Amino acid sequence: MGIPENLTAVRRNLPQDVCLVAVSKTKPDADILEAYASGQRDFGENKVQDLAGKQARLPADIRWHMIGHLQSNKVKYLASFVHLIHGVDSFKLLQAIHKEGEKNRRVIDCLLQVHIARETTKFGLSRDEVEGILLSGDLSALNHVRIRGLMGMATFTDDRDQVREEFRLLRGLFDGLKAKGFAGSEAFDLKSYGMSGDYDLAVEEGSNMVRIGSLIFGSRSA
Ligand SMILES: *Cc1c(COP(=O)(O)O)cnc(C)c1O
Repeated sequence: MGIPENLTAVRRNLPQDVCLVAVSKTKPDADILEAYASGQRDFGENKVQDLAGKQARLPADIRWHMIGHLQSNKVKYLASFVHLIHGVDSFKLLQAIHKEGEKNRRVIDCLLQVHIARETTKFGLSRDEVEGILLSGDLSALNHVRIRGLMGMATFTDDRDQVREEFRLLRGLFDGLKAKGFAGSEAFDLKSYGMSGDYDLAVEEGSNMVRIGSLIFGSRSA
C-alpha cells in the first residue's frame, strides 16, 4: 500500500477528535508531499535541523511538531514557526522557549514530557517534577510559553497490559492536574501518546493526539 492508503487506514481507526501527527522523520520531502496531497497537515520531526530544513522547503500551511529531545541552544532554529513542542523536559528549556518566543513575538505551545516507561533510557519528567513546574507559579513569568498538555512514550514491549498501564498513569496525571486548575489550565487540553504499535490502546486510554510514523510512511532504516 502507498502513503495515501496508509493514511486513510489509520484515520479510519481514529475518532474525529484525535489529532494525527504524521511522523516524517528520516523521510524525504516527496513522501511528505504525498501525505499533504491527501489532506494531512500535521507532521512531526525529531531533529531540529531536519525540521527547519523541511519547513523551509515545504508548504507554509503545514503544522510542524517537534517530537524529539530539544536542547535549549537550538530553540532559536524553530521558534519562528513550530506549531507544538512535545518533548519539554526541564524548566530551563521552558525559559529558553519563552525567550525565543518573545523575540519572535509569539506564544509557543508546549507539552511536558512525562517519563512513564519502565526503561530508564527514555527522557521525561517525573510526576513530581511535572507538578512542580505547573503548580509552582514560576511559569506565570514565562508568558511566551503555553503548556498545552502532556506527552509520553510507553515501554517498547509486546506486553500490551503494561503499555495500557503506562498510558493510564499519564491519563491519571493529566486529569489530576486539570482538576487542580493551575494558572493556564484552560488551555491544558492535549494528551500526546500512542505510536504505530500502540495507538489503539492509547486512544482507548484517553489520548487525543497520536504520533504515527512507520504505519504511514513504512519502516525506517535508521
Ligand atoms: C519515531 C517517533 C514516533 C513514531 O514512531 P512509529 O513507531 O514509527 O509510529 C512517535 N513519537 C516519537 C517521539 C518518535 O520519536
